[in-house]
Amino acid sequence: MGTRHPNPKSAKIHRTYSVEEIGRLFRVHKNTVRAWFRQGLKAIDGKRPTMARGDAIREFLSERRAQAKRPSGSGRIYCLPCRTPQVPALKMAECIVTSDTTGFLQGICPDCGRMIYRRVNPQKIGTVRGDLDVTFTQLGPRIVDTTEPSVNCDSGQGDQQ
Ligand SMILES: [Zn+2]
Repeated sequence: MGTRHPNPKSAKIHRTYSVEEIGRLFRVHKNTVRAWFRQGLKAIDGKRPTMARGDAIREFLSERRAQAKRPSGSGRIYCLPCRTPQVPALKMAECIVTSDTTGFLQGICPDCGRMIYRRVNPQKIGTVRGDLDVTFTQLGPRIVDTTEPSVNCDSGQGDQQ
């Protein structure tokens, strides 16, 4: 039976598999298997063509399944330098609200100390906040208003004509 979610247990732990064999085993295209290697499936060092051990395949596919169940990694923000979704330091994040439906969540990466961000819809914050302690900051039209005083001197001259 062709399944969209390959069963990790189809791979025998102590066997080694070529790209073609993995494709046949899980009924996926060779290119899909190559993508799995790029996404982190561990290849056996120094083997040409690329081979993988059954236990590595199992591990990779199980991990993928687990990630699919946690949509968009709630409570995490992707850190570019660390190349991994991180739980912000102290599980604290700030939601900067730029409009009713746009904003971003920012926190501090616990590993490298950099600021990390992700775009969010403030109305749907419940689906991404996980168990983070989120504070909200509204960036509103008020910021636009503060530019007015400096404009006055110039416009005064214009009025005299
Ligand atoms: Zn980091």
